[in-house]
Amino acid sequence: MATLIDGKAFSARLRDEIARKVGVLKQEHSLTPGLAVVLVGEDPASQVYVRSKGKQTLEAGMNSYEHKLDADTSQTDLLSLIDQLNNDPDVHGILVQLPLPGHIDEESVINSISVDKDVDGFHLSNVGRLSIGAEGIVPCTPLGSLMMLKNHLGDLSGMKAIVLGRSNIVGKPMASLLLKESCTVTIAHSRTRDLAGECRLADIVVAAVGRPEMVKGDWIKPGATVIDVGINRIEKEDGTTRLVGDVEFDSASEVAGAITPVPGGVGPMTIACLLHNTLQQACRLNGLDVPE
Ligand code: NDP
Repeated sequence: MATLIDGKAFSARLRDEIARKVGVLKQEHSLTPGLAVVLVGEDPASQVYVRSKGKQTLEAGMNSYEHKLDADTSQTDLLSLIDQLNNDPDVHGILVQLPLPGHIDEESVINSISVDKDVDGFHLSNVGRLSIGAEGIVPCTPLGSLMMLKNHLGDLSGMKAIVLGRSNIVGKPMASLLLKESCTVTIAHSRTRDLAGECRLADIVVAAVGRPEMVKGDWIKPGATVIDVGINRIEKEDGTTRLVGDVEFDSASEVAGAITPVPGGVGPMTIACLLHNTLQQACRLNGLDVPE
């Protein structure tokens, strides 16, 4: 049976560590990192994410600034709020919750965020930095996935990794991170021929396709490490729902060496990495090193 990679416990340790460092910054430099989260409209899932981000930001001892705008807010008004946050010295991280309503151009909004406050790591400059292997802000979900992999496996150099999915938010940055760790990386997607066969070659499988339980146990090389990024809500026979990943957990955990569960794997690491990025940028914007 595979070892369970416990993202809940890992993220709790990471958040404790961040809170301790925030305490040092406050005491020694009178600096409180601040994260601004902007929500446009009333998408229920987005509301849950924003609430949970705000709560965990405060728990880490940081300032949380929530900006909730009506669904019909114009792009001009949203851009002017971002401009204001870009120029606010108390704000070190700005996150615009996606998706945005259809009349707003997401790319223009993301690229209007100051590169040094783009704690989601979606700004083109941060995307470019990651793709050339330079220092920059790394998107939270791939960063959390990489932290779990390195914590479990140590040096990833020379390993064969497959990333299932090529989105800009998860798949592509994950592949760039693994390449930076000197893995041999395959990026698979909906047009990949023989997905199962490609998967079976990999020492590391990162599944981010948004297809409930698509990856079966017999796709996994014995002993491989499996990171399941997927979060899918499916209906049970009794009409209630439950969360499952992109990997069929029961069959995969029979074969894998280690696996992340859903829930309790990558999910909790994502917000912890958002706090990590905010702390880093608060230090950087103030010319300080991150406390030890
Ligand atoms: P997207 O829908 O943007 O991308 C999905 C990718 O999977 C695409 O590249 C697509 O290929 C590929 N794909 C879809 N179906 C198949 C298939 N049958 N075979 C092979 N490849 C396929 O999703 P995201 O990257 O945004 O998210 C992926 C999953 O991760 C979702 O379940 C999402 O909920 C979850 N997620 C979890 C987070 C967390 O915090 N844990 C954060 C973000 C996402 P193609 O490009 O060819 O269409």
